[in-house]
Amino acid sequence: MDKNISQTPQTNQKRSLIWHPFTQAKTDPLPLKVKSAQGVWLTLENDRQILDVISSWWVNLHGHSHPTIAEAIYEQAKTLEQVIFAGFTHDPAEQLADRLLTRLPDSLRAVFFSDNGSTAVEVALKMAYQFWVNQGQKRSAFLAFENAYHGDTFGAMAVGGRSLFTQPFEDLLVEVDFIPFPETYWGDLRVEETERESLNRLEKKLQSNPDRYAAILIEPLVQGAAGMRMCRPEFLQQVVQCCRNWNTIVILDEVMTGFGRTGDWFACVKANVSPDIICLSKGLTGGFLPLSVTIATEEIYQAFYSDDLTKTLYHGHSYTANPLGCAAGLASWQLLQLAEPRFRQLEHLHHHYLTAFQNHPLVHNYRVTGTIAALELKSDRPGYFNKISGIIRQKAIEKGVLLRPLGTIIYLLPPYCILDSELELVYRVIMEIISEL
Ligand code: PMP
Repeated sequence: MDKNISQTPQTNQKRSLIWHPFTQAKTDPLPLKVKSAQGVWLTLENDRQILDVISSWWVNLHGHSHPTIAEAIYEQAKTLEQVIFAGFTHDPAEQLADRLLTRLPDSLRAVFFSDNGSTAVEVALKMAYQFWVNQGQKRSAFLAFENAYHGDTFGAMAVGGRSLFTQPFEDLLVEVDFIPFPETYWGDLRVEETERESLNRLEKKLQSNPDRYAAILIEPLVQGAAGMRMCRPEFLQQVVQCCRNWNTIVILDEVMTGFGRTGDWFACVKANVSPDIICLSKGLTGGFLPLSVTIATEEIYQAFYSDDLTKTLYHGHSYTANPLGCAAGLASWQLLQLAEPRFRQLEHLHHHYLTAFQNHPLVHNYRVTGTIAALELKSDRPGYFNKISGIIRQKAIEKGVLLRPLGTIIYLLPPYCILDSELELVYRVIMEIISEL
């Protein structure tokens, strides 16, 4: 019988069907009900505890229900919970925007608020496209990287790698040319060669038609949803240099990599590159509330600053710069200053535990960038839809750990409050699971 129907109680009251994200309700296990969460631990309705080592889809920086952030939201809610952001402004938004700039490259200045990672990317695409339109140029395509993930709205989907996720919408997506992402891993001897191939492809595209591209998008240093695929800072530097040479706008999607994830404040800081536009979300509020920013250079902002109304960026959302989200962002930023030693140290710890997997017969390779670690299992059919992912997820839950492998890739992306002993426990569980496969 259909699982959803079997759940309906024997009353006349109509029960909702909750449609979960990235979930095939017919074949996936029923969702687990979470009662509460503290630090790295989720508590289920039956009081079982699960260690959240993926920061609940990469948003949670300081642990769940952190009292400093909870308090900041409460205080803000008593003062100003929401106000229209067109024609009005408020302290939490202004302060958060200023704080962010202190750790970003100098050239970034104009801060546009929206609600999530996808809209941050959508705004970036519009800024880049209209930047050229406002100067009388039509640049009708974008450059992006194979397997990238930038979100689910139409623009963001278009610049993401093509897959089963995007297949039904193929006809509706804007034109994008893709460059291979030179993923590398621990002990990779071919890295320079793969980087050269990617850069040659990029250079050729730009050389043959430099005015075709409104911008290039990249997830800097780590492609998240593709399987925590990592590239070297050197590659990122060369991409940015190449785009500078051909006058192409560089958009860094740091929705996942921002706020310490790569072992520095931002991936662009770690790689010492300066984009034209950056997208931030996920960790922005420490994982409490949906909020995002798209930050552009003054040069881009100036292309919209005009007496001519057609040059305006006509984009915005009802909850733009929601004061509660901004207050959470400010509190999270304060905690992040204290967490800096930890987010810098986690790379070393990951390496320490991962050496045990180095010669494991089922492990293809492993990689680490800052707080993010991934190990890829050997398989004839790698990819997101490999069934091994569901098996590992289930086994991990039984052993008290929340893992959500991306196909054959098991990754860790923990909150910075994770204890060494908790990290060790996670690696022990992973080793156990792999031995049982
Ligand atoms: N960009 C990147 C790099 C992401 O990892 C994600 C989410 N996984 C997004 C954009 C989209 O963010 P959201 O899910 O908040 O829309």
